[in-house]
Amino acid sequence: MNLVLLGAPGAGKGTQAQFLVRDFGFLHISTGDLLRGAVAAGTPLGIQVKEIMASGKLVSDELVIALVKDRISQDDAHNGFILDGFPRTVEQAKALDNLLDELHLSLDGALYVNVSEATIVDRLSSRKTCKACGYTAGKDCCVCPACEGEMYQRPDDTPEAISTRLSTYHNQTSPLIDFYKAQSKLKEVDGGALPDEVYGEVKRILGL
Ligand code: AMP
Repeated sequence: MNLVLLGAPGAGKGTQAQFLVRDFGFLHISTGDLLRGAVAAGTPLGIQVKEIMASGKLVSDELVIALVKDRISQDDAHNGFILDGFPRTVEQAKALDNLLDELHLSLDGALYVNVSEATIVDRLSSRKTCKACGYTAGKDCCVCPACEGEMYQRPDDTPEAISTRLSTYHNQTSPLIDFYKAQSKLKEVDGGALPDEVYGEVKRILGL
């Protein structure tokens, strides 16, 4: 199954992706994780995107499309993948369609995790993220319950960056809901419940 995850930052896309990977072995492709990896490793790409990411703005379409093209062209993506955090603009969604055509692959669905804005702000400002595996938990958590890695507050989980990320989401990413509706690919789940409950609904909607 090839899937795109849609939803505002903090909607729980990464958490649902981790459950799906655990149970079904899909490849999880998170552009945010790939970019954070580049920043942590201090690669030329990482140096280029570090400040943009910390401010909550989007990295250029060109850079992210190249990153996804490279990852999705590898053999391990051909047994099913979950794209998390990509596409984030209509330009990226069109580039993805072209890329999948070239690779003779197709999308089975775009899963939209819908959460109210108040819940999003609350979740983002009180979350910590594992440096090693991306697991997220409440702000008092210092050791990752999944891999014992170090938990930290992402530099873009600050009030200013959260507000930029939310307006970026509304202006540039939410049009993708209509984009995938028009392709009859949109599947919507209410992401306001506890992660396990949302996951039950995700499996039901995806027929898994
Ligand atoms: P995320 O982990 O998905 O919340 O992404 C964190 C940050 O990485 C975003 O705020 C952007 O700066 C950058 N980023 C991740 N994915 C994309 C994308 N598809 N297009 C542009 N920038 C992205």
